[in-house]
Amino acid sequence: MAGSDEPARSPARGSDEPTRSSARGNGEPAQPPARGDDESAVAAPSTARGDADGEPLLEVDGVRTAFFTDKEVIRAVDGVSFDIRRGETVGVVGESGSGKSVTARTIMGLVESPGRVLRGSVRFRDPDAVRRFASKFGGRTADVSDLAPEEREGAIGEDDFVVVEERRDGEITRGYVDVVRAPEKALRKLRGGDIAMVFQDPLTSLNPVYTVGNQIKEALRLHRGLTGSDATREAIDLLEAVGIPDAGRRVREYPHEFSGGMRQRAVIAMALACDPEVLICDEPTTALDVTIQAQILELLRDLQEERDLAIMFITHDMGVIAEIADSVNVMYAGEIVESAPVVELFERPKHPYTRGLLESIPGTQGRDERLRTIEGEVPTPNEEPTYCRFAPRCPKAFDECDRVHPVPVDVADGARDHTAACLLYPEDESREAAVSLHESRNGERGDSA
Ligand code: SF4
Repeated sequence: MAGSDEPARSPARGSDEPTRSSARGNGEPAQPPARGDDESAVAAPSTARGDADGEPLLEVDGVRTAFFTDKEVIRAVDGVSFDIRRGETVGVVGESGSGKSVTARTIMGLVESPGRVLRGSVRFRDPDAVRRFASKFGGRTADVSDLAPEEREGAIGEDDFVVVEERRDGEITRGYVDVVRAPEKALRKLRGGDIAMVFQDPLTSLNPVYTVGNQIKEALRLHRGLTGSDATREAIDLLEAVGIPDAGRRVREYPHEFSGGMRQRAVIAMALACDPEVLICDEPTTALDVTIQAQILELLRDLQEERDLAIMFITHDMGVIAEIADSVNVMYAGEIVESAPVVELFERPKHPYTRGLLESIPGTQGRDERLRTIEGEVPTPNEEPTYCRFAPRCPKAFDECDRVHPVPVDVADGARDHTAACLLYPEDESREAAVSLHESRNGERGDSA
């Protein structure tokens, strides 16, 4: 590895402002859920299971990822911010084209030309990873552990992707690796080893000409240096851990000899082969029937508990979100339009888009009511948002929605961390005051950048 054992340094860097909403406590009365009646076909989300009080393991902060074509710039992810803690599952939900998968690829450092991450950061806060990367990439490490908090930002150089924030007895105990700034050499180590991904279609992750066992063993060789009988034993253990019966035999079989559910289990085993801290699941149950889907969700919950995994779970299915997530980010046209703990989101949805998604769940209407849908399609976010991108489909739209871009504001009703990006909020403000609050926040965020 280049740059190994170089001393850490601390030059200055440009400013990338965070875009997380900071509005607090508007105290508006609770809204009833937008569902038609109580006969929901979706299991009510259970109380949040995650350790929501720990420090985030992954911080996605103000990320903008765009794709450059001859004709236009598509802002597929536009100022997205959220955190994931150890043992927590953060759901990301929205229709096709809302930016969910590009967000996942940004976190994995997998955005390819003509795509580019234009701003923001993805901070992976595992002290062990910070120690490893600081030792291998000392020349791109900023050690700000001796500096006052207000001096730190300016001491981090443009090229620094490892930041050391705290040392005890000389050992690094706090800091982060910024995926957005990391070179490909570092990303190859991060991917699989620290942050792993499970895709929707297991056949895209599995090579049909190699046995399942050989593919798991390859991951074990690359990331953990295991070979020979040690790797075979570990591959069998992993297949057993994901519930594949007769793993000693199945390890020698090819992907086409596995059923759909078994293949997805094998892909999860491959993802776990390197003992990652963060698991990103991109619609991993969409191609499966409901019984197998339920089994895979249960498997993920069990593995999370055993391994204290931080999980980002992408889906378009609110029912799956209710089953698996602790907190939820609702995405629309590249932006997070609502964010809340899962129970809070289902009981008190605020954004008209979230309400529309909940009303579209089969079984949430009265017996004689037709299934509701959200008319229209997600627009391509190909211009600076000087208006609400949901306005053409929004049943609550009013004049200002066409000229003011809503930013996330606190809608918590006493619950923590509930935000919505809609000009209807804060609800206890007059319409005029709420709109001007969004206007001034837009100025602070610098949305035209
Ligand atoms: S800002 Fe306006 S158009 Fe957008 S979601 Fe709110 S009410 Fe609807």
